[in-house]
Amino acid sequence: MDTFQEATNVDETLDPQDWTDVGALSHRIVDDAITYLKDVRERSVWREMPAEVRAFFSAPLPRSPAPVADVYDDVARNVMPYPMGNVHPRFWSWYMGSSNFTGALGDFLAAIQGSNLGGGNHAAGLMDSQVVNWCKEMVGFPATASGTLVSGGSMANIIGLTVARNVKAGVDIRERGVGAIPKPLRYYASDQVHSCHRKAMEVLGLGNRALRRIPTDGGLRIDIAALKAAIAEDREAGFKPACVIGTAGTVNTGAVDDLQALAGVAAEEGLWFHADGCIGALIAIAPESRSLVAGIEQADSVALDPHKWLHAPFEAGCALVRDASAHRNTFAVTPEYLESTPRGLASGEWLHDYGLQTSRGFRALKIWMALKEHGAEKFGRLIDQNIAQARYLTRLIDAEPALELMAPTTINIVSFRHRLAGASEERLKAFNTEIMLRLQEEGIAALSDTTVSGQHCLRVAIANHRTRRDDLDLLVSEMLRLGREIEATGTSA
Ligand SMILES: *Cc1c(COP(=O)(O)O)cnc(C)c1O
Repeated sequence: MDTFQEATNVDETLDPQDWTDVGALSHRIVDDAITYLKDVRERSVWREMPAEVRAFFSAPLPRSPAPVADVYDDVARNVMPYPMGNVHPRFWSWYMGSSNFTGALGDFLAAIQGSNLGGGNHAAGLMDSQVVNWCKEMVGFPATASGTLVSGGSMANIIGLTVARNVKAGVDIRERGVGAIPKPLRYYASDQVHSCHRKAMEVLGLGNRALRRIPTDGGLRIDIAALKAAIAEDREAGFKPACVIGTAGTVNTGAVDDLQALAGVAAEEGLWFHADGCIGALIAIAPESRSLVAGIEQADSVALDPHKWLHAPFEAGCALVRDASAHRNTFAVTPEYLESTPRGLASGEWLHDYGLQTSRGFRALKIWMALKEHGAEKFGRLIDQNIAQARYLTRLIDAEPALELMAPTTINIVSFRHRLAGASEERLKAFNTEIMLRLQEEGIAALSDTTVSGQHCLRVAIANHRTRRDDLDLLVSEMLRLGREIEATGTSA
């Protein structure tokens, strides 16, 4: 059979035949990217994709080549105009950062170098460890702690909860599995805990029921007395209380558990203290607000999320573990094909010993470059800025009779709704959902919604370095306009 190689006697490669052409196209792409971010405020936050754009994504596998300029044109036409929108100044849905240009350059250069950070003796590996060290420093962890960069907060929480399980199991769980655990383990968190912890419990083989949800107080923080009572009850019933998860910034309302009190309970009761700091761990670098997360530095493990308040382009999470050997003992495996050598490429640290992945991307570069450019202090001020903006929005809501605050504003999340005289909870939900959807569809602002203490509410989470106070003024005036329009026409979701 004639292969291409036999026919032509040329070895193929993915490299361009003409680097000059590629250079010209690349410069155009960079120019377009700069314009894209520079003008982001002028565009809609989000827009629905027309049918022809949706159809574009059903095209079958391309089997033959196309000029890369045409490939880019496809992307420019069908992908770039229809983003999630989180780089826009009025994107406040769910909880995510708003990216940054330097971080994007970091992602590009990381891909150009192409290094695999599973391990090895090279600069990218050292930089990965350096960024982990910087994360320790930001949350006040000792230099002797360990850590690892992962895809995001969910994976960072899994790392912490897994080390907790292995340390507290009372058996060599790596050899014998969860079936050999003598007393069933119990974990504790508030009823506001993020859903990723449920997934973690399931995948750890402990099961969802092993995570007890403890009621919260009026500020939606874990009720410490109820926690202690639950621990005592479980001991009595033959369970082994193993781990308490404190949340520094809940996803629903931004409530911050009393981390110092939790550290105290964990110490008294011999529990692992894990802090879910995906939202709030980095408040530790915010000069005005850092006292809110006091106690996080006492945790046994912390999950934090550089793709939230450090605005790293997705994905970037970080798990920190105070006891480095407990961390390594949970994940390290040395197969014969990954043994170290005294010198050379395989003499570096095996970073895959600190998590589940073998191959690892060069996530550190995008974080490192943005931190170097701006300095940690500026990131801290931006966190304070978002918290001040959330307080500003809260004041606007308090001053506007048509709007109602639905939970206390602690950090940068505001839970509220539009009132509707005499309406049932069900109608209020439909009415507010309609407002939220029209804000999205008209490209004005992206909010999300949730249920707090059984009541539906809209949610503004300002983890956005582009938001200005005018944007919040506009949100309120547009909500009032939409409220009037929907009331007048009677349309609801
Ligand atoms: C965002 C978040 C997570 C999950 O993090 P991902 O980066 O989305 O995986 C976990 N816990 C809290 C409190 C969060 O806000």
